[in-house]
Amino acid sequence: MGRVTDNFIKHIESYGFKARIVSIEHIKEIQSDMENTRRIHRDIDNYIGKYIDKFNYGIWENSLKAKSIIIIAIPQPIVRIHFTFGMKRCAAIMPPMYLLNTSNELEKKQKKIIEVTSIIEKILSNENFKAIKTNLPCKLLAARSGLGVYGRNNICYIDNESSFYWIGVYMSDMPCKDDSWQKNSIMNACRNCSLCLKNCPRGAIADDRFIIHANKCITLYNECEGDFPKWMDSNCHNSIIGCMKCQMICPVNKNYIRNIEDLAEFDNDETKMILVKTPLSELPETTYKKLKSINFIEDYNLLARNLKALISSRLL
Ligand code: SF4
Ligand code: SF4
Repeated sequence: MGRVTDNFIKHIESYGFKARIVSIEHIKEIQSDMENTRRIHRDIDNYIGKYIDKFNYGIWENSLKAKSIIIIAIPQPIVRIHFTFGMKRCAAIMPPMYLLNTSNELEKKQKKIIEVTSIIEKILSNENFKAIKTNLPCKLLAARSGLGVYGRNNICYIDNESSFYWIGVYMSDMPCKDDSWQKNSIMNACRNCSLCLKNCPRGAIADDRFIIHANKCITLYNECEGDFPKWMDSNCHNSIIGCMKCQMICPVNKNYIRNIEDLAEFDNDETKMILVKTPLSELPETTYKKLKSINFIEDYNLLARNLKALISSRLL
């Protein structure tokens, strides 16, 4: 790899991040990979096509003459949040990544993403280069750049180490001569393993194809507003948002599943206010700050429903 890209990776690693850089030439391949997936698997197109449509394959061109794509992975803990029901204090789990998870529209205001972006900008500015955060298929880019590899659960495992990472993608005018572009592959650990498949509450992980059946994955429903489908019984729910079942059981993650951070505790009054969907603007400042610390401002409208689902599953 060239000196400049090599220096960038070394520098970014000093922050505890991991990175790969690939040439901008591959952007068309990424786009066609995504288009092929939705053409071959009509269910993917039906259920997650609206997210795929938001990927940006070139709108940044006016503001940056991009030569490379930088893929960044940042280790993330499992988050534990405490709620209080009368005298009972109960813990809910939030999977890694949700501390930074933000819609494309709001990520410019997300404190942690702003911090990551400013670190990247600072390192690149030493060589007079720039970067722009962009919305591209993160997992696919991580896999094709060699930063990660897919598991059977379609989660991306970074450096074969764990899946507990947030992945971000940036376009840069930094040149990339010897990039690490490669074919998609599945983790070696998956060859004789089907633990995630057996542990998935709704059979979303497929035996007959690599792509999971997104319409059976509970994440699709608890990350969006609306009633849960009737087939989603109370046993499905295990996290305040998303789902941990296929990651918790995975042997590749075993050294990291105890990396849990307690980030917020809501007392009885606060828990009640959340459950009755008190508008954000009417919450006490302390409660608002707690929600912010767990990155639950944008998704606040999901919190009461998801919390009730955990109560009905008797996990709380
Ligand atoms: S549980 Fe097994 S099959 Fe599933 S992702 Fe992990 S190693 Fe692969
Ligand atoms: S996130 Fe949950 S529902 Fe989705 S595939 Fe994994 S275990 Fe199944």
